[in-house]
Amino acid sequence: MHESVRIIQDFFKSPKQLLITTHTNPDGDAIGSTVGLACALRSQGHTVSIVLPNTPPANLIAFLADESWFIAEGNAERLKEEVEKCDLVATLDFNDLSRAGEIIQAALQELQSPRFMWMVDHHIDPSDYAKWTFSDTKKSSTCEMVWDILSSMGWETSLSPLAANALYAGIMTDTGSFRFPSTTSSTHRAVAGLMEVGAEPHKVHEGIFDQNRLERLRLLSASLAHLKVLKSGKAVVFYISLEEQRKIGLEKGDTEGFVNYGLSVEGISLSAFFIESEGFWKLSLRSKGDLDVNQMSRTLFNGGGHKNAAGGKFIGSIESAMNAIEKYIDENN
Ligand code: 5GP
Ligand code: MN
Repeated sequence: MHESVRIIQDFFKSPKQLLITTHTNPDGDAIGSTVGLACALRSQGHTVSIVLPNTPPANLIAFLADESWFIAEGNAERLKEEVEKCDLVATLDFNDLSRAGEIIQAALQELQSPRFMWMVDHHIDPSDYAKWTFSDTKKSSTCEMVWDILSSMGWETSLSPLAANALYAGIMTDTGSFRFPSTTSSTHRAVAGLMEVGAEPHKVHEGIFDQNRLERLRLLSASLAHLKVLKSGKAVVFYISLEEQRKIGLEKGDTEGFVNYGLSVEGISLSAFFIESEGFWKLSLRSKGDLDVNQMSRTLFNGGGHKNAAGGKFIGSIESAMNAIEKYIDENN
């Protein structure tokens, strides 16, 4: 961290104009780190805009909206202007430009000096697209990394309550409310620091988790009705079909976190949740212990992520996906 902090300290000595972006289907860590960093930089006299690949879930909009953010979809011209006038593009919570979606990727991949990119991320295997790469795969979340950066710079005391809550929200969501193995003593120090500058855990929890639409519970009920334990007894698979999504009325974000229910079953170390889309399935994988779902997703589902939390895509029947998972576990564990 020391060398990288020295670099940005020099860079931010004079007022700068920044554009911040994050990954498609932004989650709590993506939005939290983006809004937290934007607010912190503004409090230091910098000018910051935010571009998101697509619309975040309603709870994140209601709780963490920043007046400067705009959606790339349908705003390619504005994006081009913002890229042309900024000094630096900060890319948060992803390890490869493709994760920002086609529109943002296209706008950024030709980025010419004097403009350049700064990556802050905790996913494994970072690509080499940024001039400054702050990658730490041991960190619980990008929000924890942003906190580390801000506090090393001595900027944390000017964080607004919104910024403190935003960073707290990202750490809380990416650690599964501080229960994943990625949660360290440094994670707890970061949230303690955030509370000292105004983060309110009960408000964050309520703002993020207690804003469900009734349909979300109906979707959960339909999904869990499909739950199957694989032969090995170690893994569960469940899904929501397109027909059920249409009948109940699925909206973006409604199925967030469903995959974790599978892991709450006694003796289970892998949970796979599939959401049917037109012609394919989008899936989420979660595991406990040594079972590496990042590797599994890379091998079977053209995806990736972290050791215990990954995602990908699958074309075929749920039965064939279950067989593939079963075979993979047999061969690799
Ligand atoms: P989620 O299941 O919450 O959508 O994703 C879990 C983790 O897997 C996230 O850290 C995300 O970055 C990663 N991930 C999800 N979907 C994909 C995908 O299609 N490709 C890759 N490379 N990573 C994914
Ligand atoms: Mn993250």
